[in-house]
Amino acid sequence: MKKELVHYTVAQICEGFIYSRKEGKGLFGLNGRLTIQPEFQRNYIYADGKKDAEVIKSVVKGYPLGLLYFNKLSDGRLEVLDGQQRITSLGRFVTGDFGVFFDGSQIPKYFVDMEEKKQLILETKLLCYECEPESSEELRQWFEVVNMPGVEINAQERRNAYNSGPFVNAAKKEFSNSQNSNIQMWSNYIKGVANRQDFLERALDWVSDGHIDEYMLRHRSDKNIDELKTHFEEVIDWIDKLFDSVRNEMRGLEWGRLYKQYKDRPEIYNKPVINAKIDQLFADERVTNRKNIYEYVLGGCEDDTLLNIRVFDKTQKTLLYERQTIEAKRKGISNCPDCVLEGKTNKSRIWDIKDMEADHIKAWSKGGPTDLENGQMLCIRHNRLKGNK
Ligand SMILES: [Zn+2]
Repeated sequence: MKKELVHYTVAQICEGFIYSRKEGKGLFGLNGRLTIQPEFQRNYIYADGKKDAEVIKSVVKGYPLGLLYFNKLSDGRLEVLDGQQRITSLGRFVTGDFGVFFDGSQIPKYFVDMEEKKQLILETKLLCYECEPESSEELRQWFEVVNMPGVEINAQERRNAYNSGPFVNAAKKEFSNSQNSNIQMWSNYIKGVANRQDFLERALDWVSDGHIDEYMLRHRSDKNIDELKTHFEEVIDWIDKLFDSVRNEMRGLEWGRLYKQYKDRPEIYNKPVINAKIDQLFADERVTNRKNIYEYVLGGCEDDTLLNIRVFDKTQKTLLYERQTIEAKRKGISNCPDCVLEGKTNKSRIWDIKDMEADHIKAWSKGGPTDLENGQMLCIRHNRLKGNK
């Protein structure tokens, strides 16, 4: 079967779009060259004000809409094999057939109301796979898998169907077989179940840096899955050897990215230090984002924002402010100690509480606690200056 990856913009796809309200069908796109709903397709079911709106919201946010599949006929005309719901939603929106409630708004926005976003929508590129099946039998087989009645097929199941062949067979044998004894170990780090292709999808995601469709297209005729399997095992092995204990928070992290980003950083080879730090952070109740502890430690404990540290509360801030301000007024100096040190125009300025922020005197990352002993108020500028060091 011949296959080709092609880009079309939303504007091109929607050129000459016609929607039949009576039949509930998108009919044509690409200026008549594309038949959106061939006879064998199920009818458009996205017109529920939710799924169709989600398509538009995805485009506006710049999220990928997923691959579209077109069947290329001998005269060059195209039929939509997969993607008619998405295309019809785009076509109906662009032609003003429905509006979308953005960000909890009570008023629907139609295409004409989209202002500068109009161009963004029209110029969005859609990735299409144009296929020329060798027989109608091949075409029919695809359809049976992709349009199974009553089953919501997920993205990876769909990819497997379209790329069916030796590579997918070998990959499924390894990653989609619930009898594989490695699954229990994989499940420590990956969410999902084998028979819904969740492990296969992660393996492909990791080896391809997120470009699963392109990777499968490139390898679909391969007889072996050596690269896929080796890379996956390397990542799993790295996690398994590096961390002493398995915690629930490890499940579903972006391990493929973390592996690429941190595997060659020398500090990471100090295993005892890393594990001690992780234990300490899990025991620290001020850390409110526990999943990010791994990335924080791998990154050398530099990016405190990952951990979402519990900060000084309002009562603490008020007490700190009052303490400092009374003292400062008595001495005739600024209530920001750094303004005093700086000795410039603000050296005796008394800041309002709303113009100050609470600061850890000894940094949180160096073990400084969030209490009155270790707290002080700084003017906003000095606090930001300190934070950037
Ligand atoms: Zn200051």
